[in-house]
Amino acid sequence: MHHDFDVAIVGYGPTGLVLASALGKRGHRVAVFERWPNLYGLPRLTHIDGETARIVQAVGDLGHALRDALPLPHYRYFSADGEQLIELDWRGTSCGHPAHLSIYQPDIEDAIDLHVRATGNVEVNQGWEIVDLHAETDGVQLTARSNDRAERTVTAKYVVGADGAGSFVRAALGIKRSDNGVHDRWLNIDTERRRPLPKRFSHVTQFCDPARGHMHMPIGRSRQRFELAVLPGEDVAAYENPEFAWRWLRETHGLGPDDVRILRQVVYTFEGRIAESWRQGRVLLAGDAAHTTPPYLGQGACSGMRDGITLAWKLDLVLRGLAGDGLLDTYETERKPHATAITEISTALGKVANTHDPAEAAARDEAFRSGNVPPPPPFPTITAGVIHDRCSLSGTLAPQGNVRTSAGVGRFDDVLGGGFSLVSRAAWVDDDRRAFLDRIGTTVATITAAEDVDGTYDRWFTSNGVEAFLSRPDFHLFWAGSLADLPEAVDQLRQRLSVTVPA
Ligand SMILES: Cc1cc2nc3c(=O)[nH]c(=O)nc-3n(C[C@H](O)[C@H](O)[C@H](O)COP(=O)(O)OP(=O)(O)OC[C@H]3O[C@@H](n4cnc5c(N)ncnc54)[C@H](O)[C@@H]3O)c2cc1C
Repeated sequence: MHHDFDVAIVGYGPTGLVLASALGKRGHRVAVFERWPNLYGLPRLTHIDGETARIVQAVGDLGHALRDALPLPHYRYFSADGEQLIELDWRGTSCGHPAHLSIYQPDIEDAIDLHVRATGNVEVNQGWEIVDLHAETDGVQLTARSNDRAERTVTAKYVVGADGAGSFVRAALGIKRSDNGVHDRWLNIDTERRRPLPKRFSHVTQFCDPARGHMHMPIGRSRQRFELAVLPGEDVAAYENPEFAWRWLRETHGLGPDDVRILRQVVYTFEGRIAESWRQGRVLLAGDAAHTTPPYLGQGACSGMRDGITLAWKLDLVLRGLAGDGLLDTYETERKPHATAITEISTALGKVANTHDPAEAAARDEAFRSGNVPPPPPFPTITAGVIHDRCSLSGTLAPQGNVRTSAGVGRFDDVLGGGFSLVSRAAWVDDDRRAFLDRIGTTVATITAAEDVDGTYDRWFTSNGVEAFLSRPDFHLFWAGSLADLPEAVDQLRQRLSVTVPA
């Protein structure tokens, strides 16, 4: 099959944006098809973590993306009596950014879109809906229909369905989804602050009142979200009536039109659903098309953006002939358990927030009070796929600090480069292995005390008892260990990538 494009991406939400930018920056010919004529323009996601901020740093204009952002120190769940049930400690840093941030989604999307267009390699077709898909063994044909009913057919080596929870691509492949039974309905009232609000509104706070759960959280510095549960059997239309929102805001929070302006008022149904398979030949699923997560941990889009950055480097190596097509199978191996674990943690938190039976809520509160509830499981890491097989740090996140170079001081990825990174305490010379690392685009850096401006690398190496790490372009560690063990780690990376090269 002739290929008009290397990769065609269906959907230009957070997942499609990240993937398009990361592939375009690597020089691949990419086409995006998005059914809406413009970027969405309103927030759904309001929280990202430090890892996701590092992804945005890699694919967009970070300053623009975070221009209204606000670090979030914690996410607290309270009972109807005001007792704290759960505190997610969100302080500190991760990947060179605040560990958790409240953001305004349109800033993030605009910031990535700017970079997508600047690559000059991505054709962004907005106002074009994909209506047909034919996958062959040597390529995929897509038919797009514009808003004014024009039709266009294109071919690509690979297609990625980043087309959201109701994915056309997933349906065209006949891929089913699991359903963990969550179908919570919540009214979302997004507002713009018209004057400073009391400090409590700067925190993410969930009120687990069995009569009606509700929550509030900042949307960056300038806006504010309020949510409340729509109980089983209640009529959605009544909740989407503006009079209802104003009455509720006044009665619950003492807020009126002088305090906030309502931007949007809509009822969402939250679900926990995972696609059974994320790849069928040359077609892959990513983001909400592959996994839909209730938002109680604020991680749905973070997972989709992780899919985008991971898929980009794997597709890049395959398209450049540096790895076999089988490398793409490791995408699901790595990402599916990770996204599933997050969905399950979110679901467990959602059960706390959605206990509507007063007796059950009382038992829940008592269990928390007496310490009979285990803490939420730790955030997942990558446990299989392209990781070293004998290193306990493999699959965890690589650090990012500020470094000094002749060009000045800045975050490592900005001043030295992203991609694969081999960072060590002392110089390491090995011409043969270095040639392999260069071929896959590895940044090789020895960080001295003078270059390690804020001591990030020294602290990290010391606390983990290692001298070097080898990280992937999605910021997960392939390996970390001693300089003596480094040659074996490089050989294992080469084998993991090339094992899939067809004979
Ligand atoms: C109330 C709420 C709060 C949330 N809060 C957070 C949060 O704080 N943090 C977080 O990480 N996540 C959050 N999420 C989840 C987050 O919004 C989603 O996970 C995220 O939007 C998924 O991104 P996506 O790009 O995969 O899909 P989408 O954002 O759904 O984008 C898919 C795109 O594909 C397009 N499309 C669909 N079909 C076609 C077709 N046939 N042809 C062309 N285009 C098509 C759609 O128009 C859409 O633009 C929240 C969700 C909700 C509902």
